[in-house]
Amino acid sequence: MFILSSPSGAGKTTIARRILAQDDEIRLSVSYTTRPIRLGEVEGKDYYFCDKAEFERKVEAGDFLEWAEVFGHLYGTPKAELKAGLKSGHDYLFDIDWQGTQQLYQRMEVDVVRVFLLPPSIGELQRRLASRGTDSADVVAARMARARSEISHWDGYDYVVINDDIDACFDKVTGILHSERMRRARQTGLVDFVRELMR
Ligand code: 5GP
Repeated sequence: MFILSSPSGAGKTTIARRILAQDDEIRLSVSYTTRPIRLGEVEGKDYYFCDKAEFERKVEAGDFLEWAEVFGHLYGTPKAELKAGLKSGHDYLFDIDWQGTQQLYQRMEVDVVRVFLLPPSIGELQRRLASRGTDSADVVAARMARARSEISHWDGYDYVVINDDIDACFDKVTGILHSERMRRARQTGLVDFVRELMR
């Protein structure tokens, strides 16, 4: 479970999309959310969009591995698909916030790598958020406040990457992914392979 978190505007969505486009072994964990769908988003691909009542029913039923309120909306990671996918050997990419990251990390049975992206400066973050154009000034201001608070959780991650250049950032994040895959404990079948080599 490869977790990518960042304050809004630090480039996480771009990096996540590139990883998913170039790496067949990793899938996106598609979350449920109560926030309204944005232009260009696709139901079931970016998120499963639902209302608050449905979300709360799912919480009650224990359908989420973690869930949190972010910017006044609810977001949750559904369990079912994920468990089957992990069992069949796929990696999963999570675009979730620090609260979800903490909840996943505290579950003993899961294997997570936590990566946090930072913007090169607060000025650059402001510029990126303002030039997005998809949200009102109030929303941008709220996101700046939220960004500062998100940044304060940087120390709850295994890796921190500063995104001052999107290509370099992508290379660093995929480098982490590839290295983590080579950890001995994660290479199932290695024992038999090495035994065969030593015959
Ligand atoms: P956005 O609405 O901009 O897509 O996402 C807002 C924030 O919610 C982002 O920081 C994103 O990482 C986080 N988020 C998205 N899905 C989940 C989820 O399932 N759980 C948690 N805890 N956070 C999520």
